Amino acid sequence: MTTPRLLVLGTGGTIAGAGSKATGAAYRPGDLALAELIAAAAALDLGAELIGQDIARIGSQDIGFAEWRALHAACTAALADPAISGVIITHGTDTAEETGFLLDLTLPTTKPVVLVGAMRPADAVGADGMRNFANTVKVASDPAAAGRGVMLVMGDAVLAASDARKAATSSIDAFRSFPRAALARVTPARLDWFGPAHRMGEGARYPFPSALPRVAILTAGAGMDARPVEALLGIGAKGIVLAGMGQGNAPKVVIAALAKAAAAGVPVVRSSRVDEGLVDRNVEVDDDALGFIAARALGPAKARILLMVLIACGITAPDAVQAAFDRA
Ligand code: GLU
Repeated sequence: MTTPRLLVLGTGGTIAGAGSKATGAAYRPGDLALAELIAAAAALDLGAELIGQDIARIGSQDIGFAEWRALHAACTAALADPAISGVIITHGTDTAEETGFLLDLTLPTTKPVVLVGAMRPADAVGADGMRNFANTVKVASDPAAAGRGVMLVMGDAVLAASDARKAATSSIDAFRSFPRAALARVTPARLDWFGPAHRMGEGARYPFPSALPRVAILTAGAGMDARPVEALLGIGAKGIVLAGMGQGNAPKVVIAALAKAAAAGVPVVRSSRVDEGLVDRNVEVDDDALGFIAARALGPAKARILLMVLIACGITAPDAVQAAFDRA
């Protein structure tokens, strides 16, 4: 069997983070060069050839359109290159779900594309980065990883990027998956998939946008009024994602202001500020009458990514937007 050749795209984050003290809390994400991570991984003899390419060296709270466009271009080139068998993206965990989902929506599923991060900096006692990275090399080297969409490897689990979310601020078991559980369990020694690839042969669902429209997340809180909605429309929001209470609820005055926005052609997606669960149509809010879209399984951060992509593609009619959320 030939050795798989993997492209490793570095963006920074804690996996490339270093602190001044192995037992301290403070550190700088993205401080270490990707080449150092690759050299350390090469010493472990992980059974793959690793080719590094720096995209950025930042904390992922600062990631945005320029880095996403560069990542998409590098992934597209790697997918077309017969010498490359898979792509690994090292990434901060704060926004890994957003980057992963955007790439999932805009790349074909022909080869594995796998994000990986860490919760503890590389020089911390009990660092998790190299284990996560070794696990990711195992996943990206496996031909059976193709056809599953973009994935995220953290905490010995392989999650679909469309399902993954960060649910803990500092635990090394920080990610959860909804509506599906993990696609596989992985250690440096073993990889066990729980089912067949379900997206084999799928092309990109959407073209990568040439620009991203302003889409805002509005978090509902008890006793709030409608002025935040008016403020968002005032700064030119092209779409609004409500991070509502429960199944995407908000006070009556807020719902009324959002209905006015929807009537004016600004898509309004109702998601939930609750950590997990579906937001379905017409439960307590009459989406049919008010022109809203229900986010279904997507939380606010991922709902915003999908809505930005849809608006960039000219898809703004509530029925068409709802169909895209139903499919996500
Ligand atoms: N905030 C930084 C980031 O997301 C560090 C957190 C992390 O990587 O876990 O890049």
